Amino acid sequence: MKYASVAVFSVIDALLTYAVPENLSVVKGCRIMVPLGQKLTTGIVIDANLKNAGIDTNRIKSIERVVDEQPVISDELIKLGLWLAQYYISPPGIVFSAMLAALLKVKSKKMIRLRADFTGAAKLEGNEKLLYDFLYKRRGKKADIRDAQSILNLKNIYKITESLEEKGALRSEFSAKVKEKRQPSKAPDSGAAEIETHKELTAEQKHALSKINSAIDAKKFAPFLVFGVTGSGKTEVYIKAAEHAVKQGKKVIVLVPEIFLTPQIMERFKRAFGERVAVYHSGLEEGERLHEWLKIKNNGADVVVGTRSSVFAPFDNTGLLIVDEEFDSSYKQESEPRYNGRDVAVYRAKMNNAVVILGSATPSAESYHNAVIGKYEMIKLEKRVHGRPMPDIKVVDMKADWQHGQELFLSDLLMDPMKETLKAGEQSILFMNRRGFSSFIFCKKCGHIEKCDNCDIPLVFHKEGNDMRCHYCDLSIKPSVYCPKCKNKLSFSGTGTQKIEEVITKFFPDKRIKRVDMDTMGGKNEYFEVYRQIKEKEIDILIGTQMIAKGFDFPEVTFVGVVGIDSVLNLPDFRAEERVFQLLTQVAGRTGRGDKNGIVAIQTYNPDAVGIKYVKKYEIEKFYQEQLSIRKDMNYPPYTGIIQFICKDEDHDKAEKTGDKLRAAIDEAIEINKISGIEVLGPCDAPLSRIRNKYRISILIKGKSRNDLNFIAREARKKLKGADVTIIVDPASTL
Ligand code: ADP
Ligand code: ZN
Repeated sequence: MKYASVAVFSVIDALLTYAVPENLSVVKGCRIMVPLGQKLTTGIVIDANLKNAGIDTNRIKSIERVVDEQPVISDELIKLGLWLAQYYISPPGIVFSAMLAALLKVKSKKMIRLRADFTGAAKLEGNEKLLYDFLYKRRGKKADIRDAQSILNLKNIYKITESLEEKGALRSEFSAKVKEKRQPSKAPDSGAAEIETHKELTAEQKHALSKINSAIDAKKFAPFLVFGVTGSGKTEVYIKAAEHAVKQGKKVIVLVPEIFLTPQIMERFKRAFGERVAVYHSGLEEGERLHEWLKIKNNGADVVVGTRSSVFAPFDNTGLLIVDEEFDSSYKQESEPRYNGRDVAVYRAKMNNAVVILGSATPSAESYHNAVIGKYEMIKLEKRVHGRPMPDIKVVDMKADWQHGQELFLSDLLMDPMKETLKAGEQSILFMNRRGFSSFIFCKKCGHIEKCDNCDIPLVFHKEGNDMRCHYCDLSIKPSVYCPKCKNKLSFSGTGTQKIEEVITKFFPDKRIKRVDMDTMGGKNEYFEVYRQIKEKEIDILIGTQMIAKGFDFPEVTFVGVVGIDSVLNLPDFRAEERVFQLLTQVAGRTGRGDKNGIVAIQTYNPDAVGIKYVKKYEIEKFYQEQLSIRKDMNYPPYTGIIQFICKDEDHDKAEKTGDKLRAAIDEAIEINKISGIEVLGPCDAPLSRIRNKYRISILIKGKSRNDLNFIAREARKKLKGADVTIIVDPASTL
């Protein structure tokens, strides 16, 4: 009897063992159906040749049937997935189903056809000869291996086709179809790519490229931090490095943090690689996503550009991975599996002896630190291309200036330069970190605040849709007029992007204004359209949230105004200052990228905050040095690793009890195993103390050894059967 170890697509935390029936050809990397409890569930074969079941063979169940004719996941990705499951303490089946998101609802087929250039037919014998003759009769037409198998009554056809493929007799192709008869439509195009004018690289770019290219040639793992000011030509370096890797027969994965950034970067990569670029992100429709996945799998692309999950692109020979704006917290997935795409990219590079480039003008404190201590090689680009100046940044102290303001939240110091910009026919960006209209609905008489019933978080009034919404759950209710407690009329205050849009439209009735936030970017191709409109100067003022803060390159933008940032500064998280610093430096960097100089106005009530004062004069490294010394004192990353546990329950007492039990289990694991150097914080109410009707009790463990942290977390969890506890390794925020 043979056994297989299987990652079942469920929350089970281990691989399961199943018996392999004689009549099934079970291959590593294929999906199969297995009994789990009373149901049949999909799983991935991780190992098809276990001699020993390792458990009581009487209790072992058998694989029910095979879904795929060929592996849908390569050995490399299996290895990556197993590492990911281990490192992030995620169920392996959930990891593999996330890797295979494009394929979840479809069956794959393996199509084969003879190669015209094959000359060894006379030497074939047995089943190989049988299959060869079958294909020969079809005169070069494709055949499904399952058809071939049943017509020829062959066993183990997968092995036969593999051997014939190795001998050069046939070619195979991975094929799949979306179930409903809808044909996969192609990902929308951002329009014909312009002809590339030849760009002579700057001295800094040349230096960066030569280092990266030699690392690609060396075929060894090499991580780089490309730390280049906004507009220093980093993207240009990425493209050239990718060209070099592709020339060596390598594949390239390019990650960007935001779907909204894909049209522009796609366009730039398409100029270099034409149709050999695939795009991959969650905004694609099912059919499109499958289309792009197949393009990658079937060697139709050399480069994939996409968001977080593109790090799982099914390339076989990845030689270069690029993570743009590597600091961005959207690389961290907030549901299982809770991986960080950037860190997975580094690991995948390591597995492949490949080069990985982390790039940003504002790297994460972790990556900056890694570069300083020599774990990554630091490459600095300190100047903008062609000596273009950095934009001039003014910090507007709203405590002093608001009286002069035209509206409480718009100062003259912001409005005046914006008027100049618009008069000159140039474009402006206004940044506001919150969507909606009023972020605060309260009673002036009794102090009551309108909060979400499920989340204990203030509701935000949305003028579009005329409702009050919770930004943490789906709650949307009619706006209240009177205080539910004292019947006084409620006041609406606080600002969001909608209010700014309304006020700005009144100020500039003849200007073309576009708001970009999660509410306006719902539609499928919206972001392509907005990208085109800005590029073709059909928009004068762009108002938006962090979606528009980074990455973009629009030469005609010469003014950036930051209307709201203070609420980010006040978040009770150890990275709050870092986030503010990154957001502001990034959004400032959207101006003055063309021939004209840029101006930036940042409004704040906290001009002396660390995250703000260093932005003004581009004292980027000073900021990191100061931040790092605080982190060191406080024992926070990058000087320690962190694992956060969130115990959830509808009942506060129960959540608290789980927290206490967890704490005891953690302490016990530390004591019994004599582990030192671990700091445990909590249990205590998480800053977001209730979300989706569940109270949240948080425990943080910190320590220098990630292995120890991982071990403790696993040990402690064993004692918590049945409780709702989320484990977050390397949390992006501890709220
Ligand atoms: P970053 O990614 O560092 O923000 P980009 O690569 O977007 O910078 O470059 C900023 C702008 O300068 C882009 O419009 C780009 O096309 C242009 N650019 C980059 N490198 C050169 C170069 N060597 N010569 C001329 N223009 C360049
Ligand atoms: Zn809510």
